[in-house]
Amino acid sequence: MLAPRWLPGEFPARVLLDQEDAGLAVLDDLGRELARFTGPVAAAARRRLGATGPADPAGERLLDRALAHAPGLARALTAAGAEGAGTEGAGAAAQALRRGGWRQLFVELTARCNERCAHCYVAAAPERTEALDRATAEAVVDDAAALGFEVVQLTGGEALLCPFVGDLAARARAAGVPVVEVYTNATLLDDGLVARFARDRVALAVSLYAAEPAAHDRVTRLPGSHARTVDAVRRALAAGLSVRVGVVAARPEDEPHALAAAALARDLGVPPESVGLDVARAVGRGRFAGRAVPADPDPRARPRGPGHASPVRLGPAPGRNTAALPPVETSAGAEGPAGGARTGAHGGACDAGAAERGGKAAVLADGRVVPCIFSRALTLGRVGPDGGLRAALERPAVRLVEGDEAQGLAGALARANAALACGSCRVTGALLRPCGAEAAAALARDGPRAAGAPARGDA
Ligand code: SF4
Repeated sequence: MLAPRWLPGEFPARVLLDQEDAGLAVLDDLGRELARFTGPVAAAARRRLGATGPADPAGERLLDRALAHAPGLARALTAAGAEGAGTEGAGAAAQALRRGGWRQLFVELTARCNERCAHCYVAAAPERTEALDRATAEAVVDDAAALGFEVVQLTGGEALLCPFVGDLAARARAAGVPVVEVYTNATLLDDGLVARFARDRVALAVSLYAAEPAAHDRVTRLPGSHARTVDAVRRALAAGLSVRVGVVAARPEDEPHALAAAALARDLGVPPESVGLDVARAVGRGRFAGRAVPADPDPRARPRGPGHASPVRLGPAPGRNTAALPPVETSAGAEGPAGGARTGAHGGACDAGAAERGGKAAVLADGRVVPCIFSRALTLGRVGPDGGLRAALERPAVRLVEGDEAQGLAGALARANAALACGSCRVTGALLRPCGAEAAAALARDGPRAAGAPARGDA
């Protein structure tokens, strides 16, 4: 029997679940069955995924006929097959996290922020104290470069409250990280940092919630923040920085303001493909009400794919030996401007599943390594002045679900959906469970919820 696995390259994410005599099921990231291979076709598919067993030409032909209707699934099976039958233990978990290659690392330098936004997934605030020390942060970016991450996003809380953010960004660039982005509310962006980021080709991502200052300040709970953020965007663009703007509609009533904020960002000169619109997540202070991302009527708006946070289009009813999947497009769309991360309001976090190199991770301000900024309960390991990121990602304190747990994967995906709006996080949350001393300690200290089972409202 094959271990359950994520199918590379598909968006939203797809999971393959081996149910022995019942065949091989392809589930989407909401746990819905999209296809099932049975009998000789299932046996042929298992062999393509690296399992051993007698060849069966008839089964191979039937599989090829079924896959002729689903080129995406055919590509995914080939890519998954190239990864082999799935390694055991921590190797399998590391493989499920790495997803064909490390793409995006989020580094939360501090949980402190000068704003107190209503939807903040970090629940950042002026009184928070967790922060990475300089030696630890440097070890993290060195590991990120060594692991081959394409994008490192330095964020928070408010990243500019970190006194060494400029040095750290330059260090990551010098270590060869192709895209280094600082995610900020930009109220503290001074001319010195602008000049420094321009020199080091460090990209900027900025949060904006409304065109109307009072409406924006109502979200951030910092009077005057709108004027300072807009002024900072202007100065950054004038200095030739790559600027991306993330607009999050925290609540339904904020959507008109969010659309106006997106239009303002474009008016300021931010390239349309670098303006991302999104809704809040059920993480931290955020609440995810199953809302679709608002459609932006502005003709300049970047075309909106189904992406995340909007109901995934259903494929045709699953049938035996068929694998017709709906053609999908990604919300990631084209690459961002040179030096910029891919656009989506959360910096491509939720679009990672679309990429062949779909691996992402996050380092939180308390030193924990987790699968994503939105999947914060599953601790993979910890970082410190001597490193730790590489160990956490190559030997994560998690394991792949197996046995009955694996058979309940569809249910686990559906439950994860209640907390996580993003396909790739749902799959990670459903596929992986904590193991080892860290999990045992967490279980003893905080009870089952800390054991990583996503519960409604926290992720
Ligand atoms: S959303 Fe960003 S700017 Fe707002 S409180 Fe959170 S970290 Fe600060």
